Amino acid sequence: MQYSMSRRALVKSAVLAATLVPVLKITAAWAAAAALIPLDSSDPAAKALGYTNDSSKVEAASNPTFKPDQACANCAQFQGKPGETLGGCNLFPGKSVAAKGWCRVWAKKPAG
Ligand code: SF4
Repeated sequence: MQYSMSRRALVKSAVLAATLVPVLKITAAWAAAAALIPLDSSDPAAKALGYTNDSSKVEAASNPTFKPDQACANCAQFQGKPGETLGGCNLFPGKSVAAKGWCRVWAKKPAG
């Protein structure tokens, strides 16, 4: 059995594929982010690490390692992409943390 495809059909398929691939990537990223439950700062694990979803509200007196330029977005454990407001964290599987959040485990994300 021989299968042939016209040039027009081939071009249509290529255009359709080129259009759908980015859409599918975006949809997959949204689905992955949506599957994560936002971490509540009252969660026992979050409390244990002093997590807050707003690093501007960290009490410096009780968190002497905190520096104002530290936030989840520039932490080595943050799994979100640059510009995203929420992202996964290696310390809190299945949960998302705020990009502007912070906890006592913060460690500078390596450059690159
Ligand atoms: Fe945020 Fe890093 Fe703490 Fe995770 S480990 S909550 S990314 S500061």
